[in-house]
Amino acid sequence: MSTVAIIGAGVSGLSMANYLEKNNVDYHIYERRTKDDLKGHGFILPKEGIEYLSQIINIDELYTKGSFLKKYVHYGHKGDVISEKDLDNVFVISRSTLIEVLSKNIPLQKISYENTLALSGFSDGKATMQFEDYSSLQADIVIASDGSRSRIRRQIFQDEVMKAVLENEVVNIIENEELANQIEHNFLKFHHEDGGLTFGVLKLSSTKILWYCQFDISKFFINEDYTPDCIRQFMMDNFGNWNPLVSSIINQSSYENAHIWRVYELEKLNDFYYKNIAFIGDAAHPLIPFTSQGVTSALKDSYILTNLILEENNINTAFKKYEEERKPEIETHIKNGRILLNQFLLPLDQQPKDTLPISYK
Ligand SMILES: Cc1cc2nc3c(=O)[nH]c(=O)nc-3n(C[C@H](O)[C@H](O)[C@H](O)COP(=O)(O)OP(=O)(O)OC[C@H]3O[C@@H](n4cnc5c(N)ncnc54)[C@H](O)[C@@H]3O)c2cc1C
Repeated sequence: MSTVAIIGAGVSGLSMANYLEKNNVDYHIYERRTKDDLKGHGFILPKEGIEYLSQIINIDELYTKGSFLKKYVHYGHKGDVISEKDLDNVFVISRSTLIEVLSKNIPLQKISYENTLALSGFSDGKATMQFEDYSSLQADIVIASDGSRSRIRRQIFQDEVMKAVLENEVVNIIENEELANQIEHNFLKFHHEDGGLTFGVLKLSSTKILWYCQFDISKFFINEDYTPDCIRQFMMDNFGNWNPLVSSIINQSSYENAHIWRVYELEKLNDFYYKNIAFIGDAAHPLIPFTSQGVTSALKDSYILTNLILEENNINTAFKKYEEERKPEIETHIKNGRILLNQFLLPLDQQPKDTLPISYK
């Protein structure tokens, strides 16, 4: 029987484990973080992502833990409406909840936390993976789901170029029922009249709001200490005089768990596999946040790769077909992400009226 080692228990690694579990394929998943470290803020899941999730988890239970968004409303920073659009089954959920739900179906003996692995080589058709204490394991198949800065990917594709994207984000969650009621079930996004500065807000539950700001790093600077006080100061300086809803949210937020998201992308996508290692999720294709497709793409990678592993006798044929199926769609999301990035940089009077902050293929 083949041994399958999954490296990384984010959404992509955990969903791969769920699909393998469902199909009775043996595997072991290794994760760097501790079991209880569930960092992160929130995810937007378009309809397609929900469909892939519903095959591996109890979807009705998930619906009680997040919220469907009804309408996207795009505003100027003072609160004047630029455009509105109905949303078709777009779901929002906190990252920690989704990770928790995906972890539930994985038997305890099949997941090891606080294990950081690197590639050490290949022999007898197997990959050798090394732990930090220099012990090692051999696997017939390695699924590299170790995120956008994948160590395994960088070991294999040593010439790859990761470049900083012009936009960075501050992401935060605030618990405040009154503000959550004001947002209703809408996705609100405010855009500064000069461009390059936006504030987005969504309701995670009846009491919790997810908010994020996006800023052009060539125009706006945040103190690189990234302390809660620095982040608060940055928000007050740049959003303090926006419309009353935005200023209430930033005033009433605690910044202890606010996260600065420095965004990078690959100059050019690598292959999605090498020998008996396949890359999924952000490890294969870091996507910029404008696409809102990071989670759905990770789910889809796992689903398609699992089916091909089951169908094909030869693992290299399975990997080749996986890349052929997934790469064109990812390239479309990358292209759409760049269009959305350019729109973000434009001033308010040049904003298109009919777009959504989501990349559809
Ligand atoms: C801490 C964190 C917070 C995030 N917060 C948000 C958010 O609020 N909103 C949003 O849209 N996206 C967020 N993202 C990104 C989002 O999770 C991904 O874009 C998307 O879900 C695809 O997930 P992934 O599993 O491919 O990658 P990731 O979510 O990055 O998961 C990779 C996993 O691999 C583990 N890992 C890395 N290297 C190794 C190694 N060498 N050995 C073992 N394990 C390793 C990491 O600890 C991590 O758990 C966050 C990612 C992280 C890691």
